[in-house]
Amino acid sequence: MTPQDEPILAQQGCSDGGCRLRLTPVTGMHTNAGCRCLQDVPTPTRIAIIRKLAQLKAKIKQLENALKEDDNRGRHSDSIRG
Ligand SMILES: [Zn+2]
Repeated sequence: MTPQDEPILAQQGCSDGGCRLRLTPVTGMHTNAGCRCLQDVPTPTRIAIIRKLAQLKAKIKQLENALKEDDNRGRHSDSIRG
């Protein structure tokens, strides 16, 4: 997958392996110095952003799992659909 193929949201953030803004982990070259994306944001806002992102990431995971289940179900019912 080339960077151009990645969804636009996945490209947000910095090149740190633990970047808080990225929805997908950095692949390939990355730094370990710590995410600096939110360093200038006031602490309460930063906490709110991190909390919201965690909720969204959990939701994405949930939806991905639901899609996988749908996919499995679809494969099983192929014979029915003919
Ligand atoms: Zn970052």
